[in-house]
Amino acid sequence: MNTNDDSKDYNTTDIKLISTEVLIIGAGNAGLMAAAAAAEKGVKTLVIEKEHTINLLRLSLGGVDTNAQKRAGIKINKFELVEYLAAFAQHNVDEGLIYHWVNNSAEAVNWVEDNVLQPHGAHLRAEPDIGEKNPIYKAFPTQNDATKDDNTFASYGKWFQEKVEEMGVELLFDTSLVKLEVDNGTVTGIVAKNLIDDKYFKIRATKGVILCTGGYSANKELLSKWNPLALKKNVYNDSPRNDGAGIMAAMNVGAIKDEAPAGCTFDRGLVPIGTRTEDMYVQTETYQDWLWLASHPLLKVNVRGERFANESTPYEFIVNAASKQKGYLYAMIWDSNFGKYAAQFHTLGCARIGFPGYMANVEKLKADTEQYVDKGLIVKAKTLEELAEKLHLPVENLLKTVARVNELSAQGVDQDFGKEAYRLTPVAQAPYYGCMLGGRLLCTFDGLRVNKKMEVLDEDYAPINHLYAAGNDSGGFFFGSYPDRVPGTAASHAQTFGRLAGKQAAQN
Ligand SMILES: Cc1cc2nc3c(=O)[nH]c(=O)nc-3n(C[C@H](O)[C@H](O)[C@H](O)COP(=O)(O)OP(=O)(O)OC[C@H]3O[C@@H](n4cnc5c(N)ncnc54)[C@H](O)[C@@H]3O)c2cc1C
Repeated sequence: MNTNDDSKDYNTTDIKLISTEVLIIGAGNAGLMAAAAAAEKGVKTLVIEKEHTINLLRLSLGGVDTNAQKRAGIKINKFELVEYLAAFAQHNVDEGLIYHWVNNSAEAVNWVEDNVLQPHGAHLRAEPDIGEKNPIYKAFPTQNDATKDDNTFASYGKWFQEKVEEMGVELLFDTSLVKLEVDNGTVTGIVAKNLIDDKYFKIRATKGVILCTGGYSANKELLSKWNPLALKKNVYNDSPRNDGAGIMAAMNVGAIKDEAPAGCTFDRGLVPIGTRTEDMYVQTETYQDWLWLASHPLLKVNVRGERFANESTPYEFIVNAASKQKGYLYAMIWDSNFGKYAAQFHTLGCARIGFPGYMANVEKLKADTEQYVDKGLIVKAKTLEELAEKLHLPVENLLKTVARVNELSAQGVDQDFGKEAYRLTPVAQAPYYGCMLGGRLLCTFDGLRVNKKMEVLDEDYAPINHLYAAGNDSGGFFFGSYPDRVPGTAASHAQTFGRLAGKQAAQN
């Protein structure tokens, strides 16, 4: 819900006023890090959050030269990494911000490990395996996973909340940002709304306001305006809390934002057969109908039953490729040997076998997949003809495509799309499986322009005094798709820049 209502007069005498030094909007990845950093400097810190709870803190954190990486003997060449990230974005980024992240990420990631994980017997495990077999899909071992035993994930949100409360941070839930208040060019606080009693009140912030509301992926109106293709190619939004409130509030006081869209799309959205993309944009916070197997380079075909791209690509690329096909959706087709193939694919990041949780081993991946057969989102058939019919795909085309893939796989050379031989697997052993897939928008990245102090910029590229942004409310860092070969960058961009914003605001 976006409670921005600029037409109202909030300057009435009966409106309640509370005061703080640093005010943070949003108790998510950037917001809680900002709060901890401000509180560490000894300033009075208040966080408002529109929901009853803090948001999920992400388990895979990117970083360069973190303690976990040092323990694992991992060394990343930062110049190569920054050039890769900038090139991935075709340099539509503020490259200085990327260096800033690289240079500050370890301090932020280590802070989480030392202050939040270790007191609870958990740690970060750095993943050394980048499986760099194909230079086209170069990857960097940036990922640090929060874990207790290296095989399961350690969810640390509750510990983080306890930690900041112990540090003196006040958290006000069910409270939403309505608008920023500005006096003589300086942001002095906000108008807020208590979502329980629907009453408006003011919060004065003497040192600054930090916007951490997490982008706008839940707001279909803003998506149609700023990123219309995202609405067509994605059938799920996995960040239902993020409706653009922070970005809009800042723009209402003269801030500028990135002009080109950027976002994180994953290729794991199961679509009920027969559903059109324009009729589906499911908002979920619980990984609803999320198929891990879909990020594996199995055969993918368009709604005509024809292969249309090399399936061995970063997560978002196959969804981008499908957006050039009729209907924006695509089908994945595979056979009963998929467990064996998944192990041999050697995929990366959270698509790899061995990723804690659902993908810890082949048996878990198979069980995760089979549950969707029971739900009717994956169909199973004894013959390919039956499979095509169940998926509403043209039977002749699918038979032809599968015959060609099997031929290429026997030759060991993908003459059509250049997939690596070890990922070119046949569809030959019944029962056959298939499903329809579309994108999942995890978050948007195009945000407010900020400088290295995380100050929000106005049209003259001058900072708006006492206004900061971090996480997906802030921009300049990503362009187009998410570089998933630099795993954990999204959460770490939020946490690292949140930490910098908190420190900076506390200095005023
Ligand atoms: C399923 C999923 C898995 C992911 N996994 C990873 C991963 O492993 N590694 C990685 O790097 N990235 C991951 N990401 C991306 C990562 O979560 C985001 O980039 C990151 O959370 C952004 O942080 P943020 O602080 O900007 O926003 P958030 O963490 O979303 O926090 C924003 C907070 O602001 C609150 N808020 C919104 N509007 C208002 C308002 N008007 N008033 C008050 N409060 C408000 C929201 O309720 C929310 O709590 C994942 C995303 C998803 C959806």
